[in-house]
Order: sequence, then structure tokens, then C-alpha cells
Amino acid sequence: MAEKIGVYFDLANIGGGLDVQSLATEATKKWGDFIAVSKLVPELALAVTDIEADIAAQGLDGVLLCGASPRFDNELYRFKAQVEYVNLREQCVLSYKNPDGSAYIPAEVAPAPLQQLAQDYVHMGVAKLQKSSVPDSAAIEITRRILVLGGGWTGLTAAYEASSMGYEVVLVEKAEKLGGAVINMPEASPLGPTWEHKTATNLQDKIAKVTGNAKIKVYLNAQMEHLTGQPGAYTANIKTPDGTKTEAIGSVILATGWTALDPKYLEPMGLGKSSKVVTLAEFGKMLLNDSVKAKRIAFVLDTTLAEEAFAKEAAAQEEAQAEAPEAPEAKDGEAEEKAFVKADLESFKHLKYSNVVNSVGMLRLANSVCEKSHDGVQAFILYKNMTVPGILERFYKRMQDRLGVMMTKADVTNIQEVGDHMVVECQNTLLGDDFDLEVDLVVLPTGLVPTTAKEVTVQFDYRQGPDFPDLELFDGYADSNYICFPYETRRTGVYAAGCVRQPLTLDACEVDAKGAVLKAVQCLEAANRGVAVHPRALDNSYPVFNFVRCTQCKRCTEECPFGALDDDEKGTPKPNPARCRRCGTCFGACPERVISFANYNIDQIGSMIRQVVVPADFKHDGPRILILACENDAYPALDMAGMRRKTWSPYCRIIPVRCLGSVNAIWISDAMSKGFDGVMLLGCKYGDDYQCHFIKGSEICNRRMQNIAETLNRLGVQPERVEQLEVAIDEYDKVPAMIDGFVARITALGPNPFKGM
Ligand code: SF4
Ligand code: SF4
Repeated sequence: MAEKIGVYFDLANIGGGLDVQSLATEATKKWGDFIAVSKLVPELALAVTDIEADIAAQGLDGVLLCGASPRFDNELYRFKAQVEYVNLREQCVLSYKNPDGSAYIPAEVAPAPLQQLAQDYVHMGVAKLQKSSVPDSAAIEITRRILVLGGGWTGLTAAYEASSMGYEVVLVEKAEKLGGAVINMPEASPLGPTWEHKTATNLQDKIAKVTGNAKIKVYLNAQMEHLTGQPGAYTANIKTPDGTKTEAIGSVILATGWTALDPKYLEPMGLGKSSKVVTLAEFGKMLLNDSVKAKRIAFVLDTTLAEEAFAKEAAAQEEAQAEAPEAPEAKDGEAEEKAFVKADLESFKHLKYSNVVNSVGMLRLANSVCEKSHDGVQAFILYKNMTVPGILERFYKRMQDRLGVMMTKADVTNIQEVGDHMVVECQNTLLGDDFDLEVDLVVLPTGLVPTTAKEVTVQFDYRQGPDFPDLELFDGYADSNYICFPYETRRTGVYAAGCVRQPLTLDACEVDAKGAVLKAVQCLEAANRGVAVHPRALDNSYPVFNFVRCTQCKRCTEECPFGALDDDEKGTPKPNPARCRRCGTCFGACPERVISFANYNIDQIGSMIRQVVVPADFKHDGPRILILACENDAYPALDMAGMRRKTWSPYCRIIPVRCLGSVNAIWISDAMSKGFDGVMLLGCKYGDDYQCHFIKGSEICNRRMQNIAETLNRLGVQPERVEQLEVAIDEYDKVPAMIDGFVARITALGPNPFKGM
């Protein structure tokens, strides 16, 4: 707990209207000796040396900076004392409007509701510091050795890059030799400037850099048996032909690549029915073996035909099911078979995700087959969407001029074998007319399915199971946030790269491998310092458990999105601090309030809530609304709204939370007992387009809303007083209306029945 603090008011960033002296005087009056220094400074950024001198002279252990949002210039304020911020700029002065909706100009003398808003925030800031202490170190002794799973193009690149940064590497490949899918690819699409020509892969050079490297140990014909421990201090048991080998490991790069989509999905386009229909991957091998005899080849980059056939089948099944009044009990396997057709439709996503690889791959192999043939081959590329990323556009342009290659956008409506050739029916082409193309061979795209969708790749020895969780929700990918954190999986310390993360061309796989190496290094060095990796990078807090009160209900262990908590046979949680991302979901879940962070805890937020002055006269002074805003999306959106002078009701008091998953129901009870009329939980989107930095904190919060509603009902408080609303970080223009809408609904509901009790 902080014992002696300094409070500094940044006059340059507060606006001229607030009576800042009065804010300072009121704070000192209320908090007494706890505030040892209280200063109004012309510009905070220029007062850093002054503050450092106060810390040294007065022995301050906390500093409260009242001015701009904590999101601005915070790198300036690294003191030998705890630092907290009071956001009087974006979320107070700049976003303030009068209770009647009229505008306020920041230079004008602050009206009473604005002065009260600022005063509440200052008291809340002091309370926050008072209940905050410096976390103990969670640093652990680490092993600077990186485990790379997969010895293909990405894994080889990752192993070499990690070794050149000075880290030891253990590379595990399940096949008998290194190289993966690239063994069948002597050439790749451009790997560098001028980005116009295919390039030799020189796989053997890449392999030699790994096998001849003293820092890299390679296991072939090997698989993971177990991964135990935590980042910085894992133990990997590896099954090899010579028995199980045990290696101490610091972090892991998952580069296990892809497996091909089941060919049955392309059966409606002739795959598996005719030998004249092959996938792109098969065609690559044929070219390598010199077994391509065809003279006219259609590369079809449109699988709508197949998808529609499956959709039709799924609809027919559904109709049949709806029509059967009382279906007889399904025989063994029948139910699964029916569910399967619906799931099949989902599998087409993998073909769509693979469009870049197939677009570039078809350009490359169409070019190669023309090059290999001395007596003329015609390659027709029929595409629905030709997706060529970035600078590879130069390669695409070059292929447009390639003699023998013809490309057109087309809807391929039918493919059939007629006599000794194939007929591809094309509509809506760029050539103007629909046409039937007669060819000797049809090449279809390859669906790259991440290996994580098909097998347990890492074999975690975690309470929550050996595999990554919820894979079916993420189309088989182990990613933990597609938008903000590439490489990151839902297991801290394990970073995915290459086609197991996303179907990628070889040049992109190399970039990916290097990126994942940096994350793997960052993670183990963070464990060494006892701080978090992303998204709360450098945070040195971690959850502390007061086991005396633990009822072993297992809610925390089950809800932790990152598998950071194991438990013993009775159900008592066993923390692994280096796996923890510091989201607070566990303490949001705990009904006994056993879990806390030194600088973020149940008592702290409860105390902040209790600092707000709630007027008894609802009609005259308006309602009071508590907004618990997720610091990742909602809080920045509010800041950006304020910066753009978008305003919202002056009756709201905002408290940032690490994640909506960390919201404990007791805070809502605290707010209701204090007399707040409504509580708004403002967090990121969940579901298919989830944005939660902690995977499903907002979704978990939404699930808990049911229990909160029941509690409120029991207390005789309308559950409508608590609402969860979703906002994306870039929706700053929408957030004021969301707040005002909620305030209007609460105003219509009338005062909280507990007000004034
Ligand atoms: S829920 Fe979050 S804070 Fe709690 S142990 Fe898991 S990762 Fe750490
Ligand atoms: S949620 Fe709380 S009470 Fe339940 S097991 Fe975890 S720490 Fe113990």
C-alpha cells in the first residue's frame, strides 16, 4: 500500500476553466497526511526533475498525475515510486457537456457538475494509489534454448535465426528428413527483388545452415511427448527412435505447417473421379517428375461449384430432418454423419484462406510448365479472385505477359470429362462471352489446413488439456488474436509461424519465422525479468492467491484463457506466473475474492467506486452511472472521442479495467449500495469477430451477466440497470451515443431503490 504520495496537476493539459486550486485543497482536506506534496505545475512534462526531487526529499512512494490520459507521454514518467493518472483532459474537460446537452468551452469557468466530475476523479485516483503496492518480483531462472517444432521451410528459418541471435535451438521434425513440403519445390515464387521472377529455393543450403550449426540440435523421426512447466522453464519430452529425450526449453516456435484438405471436398469438380483432375500440390510433384504430358491445362481458382454442391446437400438434409415429424432414433454414426455435412461447409473456409498461396502458386506453375515444354503448352488460369499480396504484384504483371499463359476472371460452372479430354464451362469472363474450354488436365487449388486442426502438436502437460483450447471456434488455428498479436497462441511462450498460422507464400513464411523468433526471445527474457509479455508488456504484477479462503471451486482454473493455472487433486489452484498474461479473468471469476494483484485488486476498485459523490436528488442532480471500461479497446476509444471533442453525459464516472473478464460482481454490488443508478460494462466485441486481447474476457463477462441479473433481482433492483456494451477501438464516434443512450434508459427507469440508504 502506498503511504505517502505527491499529487501534481498539469495546468497545460487541464484547460483554463477548472478551479484546480480547489481540487487540490479538497483532496488535501480529505486525504490529510497521505498527500505529502500537492502542486499545480505549468506543464507536467517539464516538471519531471522536480517530481524526482520531491520523491527523494519527501520519501514519496506514490505519484498521482492529474492531467492527460495515462495513454499519453507515460514513458516520461518512470519514477522510483508508483505512478497513477487522473484523466482530467480527454475523459473530463474535453468530453464534458452540460446536463441540458449544451456545449461547454474548456476556457469557460467550469460549471458545478464539471467541477464535481473532476473532484470525484481526483479522489478516485488517490484511493487507487492508496490501495496499490509494488508487486514482488516474479522473475524465474530461465533456459535460453528455443524449441522449434517442424523442420520445414519456416522451422529451418526459425532455427537458424534463433541461433544467430545467440540462442540454443532444439529442432524436432517428425519426418525422416528436413525440408517439409518444400522438398517437392525446387523453385518458389519470387523470394526477393526484383520480385518478378521465380527463384530457386536452394533448400539444401538452408538445411546445411541448420545441420552444420553447433547451436542447433536436430531430432528426426521425432515427436513431442510432453511439454511441462512455464515460459523460460519448460521441460520437453521428445519421443525419438532412440527413446525419450528430455530437454530444458525456454520458449517454443510452432512451425508444423499444413496438411492438405480432404480431396472429397473437390469431388464435385472431378477430383478423385478423373485422373485428368489434380490439385496444385499434386501438379507440382508431377512437374518435378517430368510426368506432365498435357498440352492444354486449366488452372481453376474457383471452388464455388464444389461448395454449392455441399451446400445443396446440407440444405436437403435439413429439409428432410424438418419434415420427419418424429425421427426414429439415429442409428450408430448416423447423427454424426448428418452433422458432418454442415461441418463440411466450414471446411471450405480453408480453401478461401489458401487463396493467396494458390493464386501465386498457379502463376508460378503455369509459368514453369510453359518453360519446361519445348513444343508449346497452353496454360489457362481461370480465377474468381486472384489474390496476389504486396510486391508480388510485379510477378503477376510479368505473368500477364508470359507467352503461353492466358488468364481471365471466370465463374467455373461445370467441369466434366468428355471423351479423352475435360470440358470446363466458364461464365462471366473478362473475354465477354461464356465459353467451354477443352483441356487435357484440370488443376484445382490445394486447401492448406493447419496441422493444429488435425493433431495435437505440442502435447501440453497443462490442467486444461494437451491441446490448444477452442480450436473449433478458430477454424483450427491456435492464434490468440488475429488482429493485434501475430504469432501469439493461447499458450504463453508458444509462437506459431508459417502455414500453421496462416497459409503463406515462402517469402512470407521467412518473414513469419523471424517475427516468431523475436517473440519467443522476448517471452523468455520477460520471464527472466518477471514481467509480462504482450499485451501488458513489462507489467510486473501477477495474481496472488490467499488460499486460506479458497473453496476449491475451480472457477479460476477453468476460466483462465491461457491455461496459466494448474491445480492439485483437491482443486486448489497452482499458479505459473510466467504463463500469466495479467488479464485478471481469474479474479473476476472468484466468488471468494481470493485473488488479487498488488496494483489491481477488488478492494482497490471498490474503494474508487466509494469515492464518488452520489447526490440524493435524482431529479435535480441527475443519475450517477459507473462505466467499467476495458483498457484495451473501450478506454482508448473514449480518449479518442474526447480528443475529437465528442461529448457525453456528465453523470458518468469511468474506471478502466484490465479486461471485462476481470470485472468481479462485487463491484456492481458496491456501486448499487453506493447509490449509483446504473453500471455500464464497456468492452470489446466477442463472438466470431472477437477482438478481446485476452481471447474471451468480454464473452465470459457476458456469461456472468446472467448471474448478476439474478443477484440484482433478488435485491429488488431492476437488472436493466446493468448493461454490457461492445465497442471497437476505432468506434470513438459511436461511443458517446452509446453512453448517452444508456443514461437515457436509466433516467427513464428512475433512481436506484438503494439510493440514500
Ligand atoms: S486468468 Fe489471466 S491473470 Fe489470471 S492466471 Fe490466467 S492469465 Fe493470469
Ligand atoms: S475461483 Fe477462487 S475460490 Fe474458486 S478455486 Fe479459484 S481461488 Fe479458489
